[in-house]
Amino acid sequence: MGKILGIDLGTTNSCIAVIEGEEPTVIVNAEGIRTTPSMVAFTTKGERHVGIHAKRQAAVNPERTIFGIKRLIGRRASDDDIKELEESLPYRIVPSTNGDAWVKIDSETYSPQEISAIIVRKLRECAESYCSEEIKQCVVAVPAYFNDAQRQATRDACKLAGLDVLRIMNEPTLAALAFGVKKKTTGYIAVFDLGGGTFDVSILQCSEGTFKVLATSGNNHLGGNDFDTAIYTFLADKFKEENGVDISGDKMAVQRVREAAEQIKCELSSLSETQVNLPFLAIGPAGPLHLSATVTREELETLVEPLIEKLDKPCHDALEEAGLTPDDLEDVLLVGGMTRMPAVRARVEQIFGTNKVSHGVNPDEAVALGAAIQSGILGGDIQEVILLDVTPLNLGIEISGDRVSTIIERNTSIPTRASKVFTTTETNQSFVRITIVQGDSPKASECAKLGTFVLTDIPPMPAGKPRIEVQFSINADGVVSVQGIEKQTGAVKELVIQDSVGLSSQDLANAQERI
Ligand code: ADP
Ligand code: MG
Repeated sequence: MGKILGIDLGTTNSCIAVIEGEEPTVIVNAEGIRTTPSMVAFTTKGERHVGIHAKRQAAVNPERTIFGIKRLIGRRASDDDIKELEESLPYRIVPSTNGDAWVKIDSETYSPQEISAIIVRKLRECAESYCSEEIKQCVVAVPAYFNDAQRQATRDACKLAGLDVLRIMNEPTLAALAFGVKKKTTGYIAVFDLGGGTFDVSILQCSEGTFKVLATSGNNHLGGNDFDTAIYTFLADKFKEENGVDISGDKMAVQRVREAAEQIKCELSSLSETQVNLPFLAIGPAGPLHLSATVTREELETLVEPLIEKLDKPCHDALEEAGLTPDDLEDVLLVGGMTRMPAVRARVEQIFGTNKVSHGVNPDEAVALGAAIQSGILGGDIQEVILLDVTPLNLGIEISGDRVSTIIERNTSIPTRASKVFTTTETNQSFVRITIVQGDSPKASECAKLGTFVLTDIPPMPAGKPRIEVQFSINADGVVSVQGIEKQTGAVKELVIQDSVGLSSQDLANAQERI
C-alpha cells in the first residue's frame, strides 16, 4: 500500500503530513514553509499562482485572487450569508446551473471544488517530491460543522486533484488525536480551534488509545477574517475622517488595507504596539494620500471585544452537551492561528480555567498531524487507536409548517442508521416527495437542504395504506445516504435525488480537463 497523505485543507492555510514509521511528520512545501496559504490566483496572461505566490500578488490582482474558498464549498449562491459574504469579497460569486456558489474570474466560472483541487494538487505534488513516490490516497479534515454537501464537495475536490479520500474526519477530532497519541492522555479534553473562517469546539473522552467525541459546537462564521475586518474598518474610517476619502470602492486599496490589518493583528500577538504605513493609498484633491497609523494591543482588544465575546457560548454549549463542567477537563488544546492572540488565550482561560491550556501541539499543524495518524491507522502502521466520532448536526426531513422532523440527532456516534415509515395522503398516490435537511434549527428553511428524494412507483392503494420505510445512514465520513422500502410489497425503491448541491458528472469532467 502506498503512502496516504493527511490533509488539513484550511480556509486560510493548508498543511499536510504523512506517517513515517509510527511518527506523523509535517511536509514542507516547495517554498520551504510548513503551511501553504489556501489561495489561487489567475493572471491576465493566463498564468496560475498557488499558495504564497498567489498571496504575494493579491494586492495588485485582487479580482483574480481567490482566498477563503472553503466558505463557499458545498453552499448555495442564494444563501443569505453567502450573499452577505460576497459584499466583502474582491472576487465575484455567481450561481452555477444548479444554484451552487461558484466564482467568476473574467469570463470563466470555477466551482469551489475546482479551486480547492488546484490547492490540493500542489500539496500532493509537494508530498510526492518529499516522499519520492506517487501518492493516490488521502485522509482529509473538515470542520466538525460541515454538513453532508460540504463533505461531499471536499471529497470531489480531492478526487479532482488525483486523490482518493479514504476518510473524511473532523478537524478537532484529528487535533485531539495528534495530541492524545503523543501524550497518552486519559480523561476529558476540549479542543478549541479558531482559524481564519471558522470556530469549532469539541469535547472528547480519551482512554488507552480510544478517542470518543462527546460533543461538538462552534460558529461557522467566526474566525480571523472577522478580526481583520474589524481592524480594516477602523483604519478605513480613520483614513476617511482624516482625508475625506472613502477607499471602499477601490479594490486594490481595500486589499492593501486588509493585508495590513492582518499583519497588525499578528504583530500585536507579540508586541504591545505597531505601526502601519501605506503610501499612495488614494488620490485626494491635493495629490496622493498615505495611510499612517499606530495601533496598540489595547486598541485592538477593544475593537475585537464583540468577537471575543462570541467565543463563550459554543464552549458552554459543548460542555453542557457532554454533561461536564470545566473542572472535569484534563486539558484544553489550542488549535488554529488565531489562538496565538493573547486576548483569545485569556478568554479560553476565563472559560475553562487556568492551568488547563496545553501547549503540547502546534496550533498550525495539529490537524494535519492527526490526519497523518489516521492514515497510519488505516494503512496499518499504527495499531491500538480507536476513534469514535459523532455527527455534528441534526438530520431530518422537512414537514409542513417549515418544521423539521429529526431522524438522527446531533452528537450521535457515527456510523449510524435510523429509519422512519412514511405513507400516502391520497388514494392511489404513486409517489412521495421527501426533502432531507441538516442543521441546528427547528425551522427547515434555516437548515441546509441536502436534496429532495422522490419515492416512485408506489402500487395503487388507499390513502394511508402504503408503508414506506426510509432508511437514513451516516457513514464514518459523516456522509449521508438514503434508501426506501415499500413494506407491503417489499420492493426496494430507488430514491431519485433532485436539486442536490454538488458537481454533476459533467461538471467534474469539465473541471478535470481544465485542471
Ligand atoms: P484556517 O484553519 O482557517 O486555515 P489557520 O488556523 O491557519 O486558519 O489560522 C489562520 C488565522 O490565524 C488567520 O486569520 C491569521 O491571521 C491568524 N493568525 C496567524 N498567526 C497569528 C498570530 N501570530 N496572531 C494572531 N493571529 C494569527
Ligand atoms: Mg484550521
